[in-house]
Amino acid sequence: MLLSDQSDKAVDLFVDILDVDSETLDTHWALGKLFRRRGEIERAIRIHQNLISRPSLSEQDRHQALFELGEDYLSAGLYDRAENMFTDLQQHVRFREASLYNLIAIYESTHEWHKAIKVGLKISRTDKSVEPTIAQFYCELADLQDNPETALKFYEKALKHDRNCVRATLALGRWWMGQGRFKKGLNYLINVHRQDIQFTSEALPLIKDAYYALEDKPGLVSYLHECIQSAPTASVVVMLADLIAEQNHVEEAERFLFQALADNPTTKGFHKLIDLHIRTAESGKARDSLVMLRNMVAERLKQNPKYLCRHCGFSGQTLYWHCPSCKSWATIKPTKGLDGD
Ligand SMILES: [Zn+2]
Repeated sequence: MLLSDQSDKAVDLFVDILDVDSETLDTHWALGKLFRRRGEIERAIRIHQNLISRPSLSEQDRHQALFELGEDYLSAGLYDRAENMFTDLQQHVRFREASLYNLIAIYESTHEWHKAIKVGLKISRTDKSVEPTIAQFYCELADLQDNPETALKFYEKALKHDRNCVRATLALGRWWMGQGRFKKGLNYLINVHRQDIQFTSEALPLIKDAYYALEDKPGLVSYLHECIQSAPTASVVVMLADLIAEQNHVEEAERFLFQALADNPTTKGFHKLIDLHIRTAESGKARDSLVMLRNMVAERLKQNPKYLCRHCGFSGQTLYWHCPSCKSWATIKPTKGLDGD
């Protein structure tokens, strides 16, 4: 019946005629898992409920069946039921850790961040690797606040749990700049480069705004030079070239950018270089061609995905802190390399 696609009848028969004993128990587990993996959740639920109803089942196997049933509910999106299962099961040492992680998965889906934090804190007593995830939960909570003071507190808490939390650092920088406290905002933002070099391009526009508001262009120039020492990313190089050109040294900017691109070629940098060439080129055929080339490269830049999940390869134009595809936290980052930063 299983082979002829009559799996409904097969499950009925299986549940009816096969006694649950030590001989057949493994078959029950295997079949339950198989159905769940194939998305046939109702059948998986039937098998596990059947197991639970058998009085002959040992205490440990009953817990196992309850755990499997919880996973069935989780897969089916029946979060209330799954939550009840795992809340009970976390009392039992053998299922504690897996139940807590499943509870976190539930609260992530239902966006119940207070509850997610509570469970995260329980896990962190024995497993510190959960701390960056707790920080993300605080950021989620902060993003939902209408009151800016409350948001501030949650972002600060995020940073306490993970001092390298780029998301909280960017938010705090933005928060203080919003209050007109540019120096304080800047103190946060310049940390991003140290926390995770790949996020420098996210902080740069804000850093530029802060230095401009403080009327400290030389400060910005020396900050950019500092960044280039450790990682000559496209956004840093392009901003510095712009600053050099702004002081009417277009040719100097061209030389700087040409050298930077020879060391580390990027489409973004090349686009800026053509832009500078156009400014110094005399009108004529060559200049017209350059304009056309610049527009083509700009089109290409627009089409390139700006962000990429380092865990599953999901890419797009929006920075998500929680990957919509693989559900990992903070694995989506600006793209690198020739077509990236
Ligand atoms: Zn992903």
